[in-house]
Amino acid sequence: MKFVKVLAAVAFAVALSASLALAADKKLEGTIKDGSCCDKAKKAGKECAHKCCVEAAKDGKVCAKCNPEKK
Ligand SMILES: [Zn+2]
Ligand SMILES: [Zn+2]
Repeated sequence: MKFVKVLAAVAFAVALSASLALAADKKLEGTIKDGSCCDKAKKAGKECAHKCCVEAAKDGKVCAKCNPEKK
């Protein structure tokens, strides 16, 4: 039953690296719209200082007020 053990170990390693990759890539929910205050701040290597954007970032989101989703 060695093969099963190896398979389980490989599956575990894959799951672990996938979760690590997700954790490393800490993306905010939503999309930053081109030309928005957040986009300008991002391009300047900063975080947007707008109060609404800071509050949204705390919740792990992109400010929906300044970056409205296209529908
Ligand atoms: Zn902003
Ligand atoms: Zn905002």
